[in-house]
Amino acid sequence: MRVLLVEDEKTLSAAVCKFLKRENIVADPVYTGPDGLDNALSGIYDAVILDVMLPGMDGFSILREIRASGSAVPVMMLTARGGLEDRVHGLEAGADYYLPKPFQMAELLACLHVITRRKTDAPQMELAFGDISLDQQTGSLRCSSTGKEIKLGAKEYQLLEVFLRNPRQIMGKDLLTDRVWGYDSEAEYNNLEVYISFVRKKLTFVGSGVKIKTTRGLGYSLEEGS
Ligand code: CA
Repeated sequence: MRVLLVEDEKTLSAAVCKFLKRENIVADPVYTGPDGLDNALSGIYDAVILDVMLPGMDGFSILREIRASGSAVPVMMLTARGGLEDRVHGLEAGADYYLPKPFQMAELLACLHVITRRKTDAPQMELAFGDISLDQQTGSLRCSSTGKEIKLGAKEYQLLEVFLRNPRQIMGKDLLTDRVWGYDSEAEYNNLEVYISFVRKKLTFVGSGVKIKTTRGLGYSLEEGS
């Protein structure tokens, strides 16, 4: 999962990013309202964590712009102002959740799972397709036909997660690169190709019938082997 974190308190932002990383969730931090809006509109995020009081543009205005653009990305608002009026204001502006500061990291994580699950309508937190599944806690790939399991590297995990959320869909290299390395990253296509080959090796290692198929000129898709 990749989330955008729009929070100008750098200490808090760094703590949230560090905590989420351990849960195999990548958080891209931005520190101003305008940067938050630009990145939120990129379409590459599974969720946006949005502070209210921000330099340049406040969280409510950002949220209204996000919704006005037609984006339904799940948005969790954070604020020190925990009053009822602000909560109502946030929910009316289209927030999926409103988390008053100070919060516990475990609470933030639980909310994030709730709002992203609601969007994808997935019955469980487990990501699975064919005979494979990803274990969010351990970062491992499991194969139910062989009972084999292997630990994935962080980028391998993120890449396979994108495939598992969009099975059988051909995804272009640009999209996959953005989803795994981020919108502004310097990552090149060959990084993607290297990681695709790593993930393929691990799928072979666990003995799964699931394959990453290459469609020349278009991209890659996750398919059940024949
Ligand atoms: Ca703030």
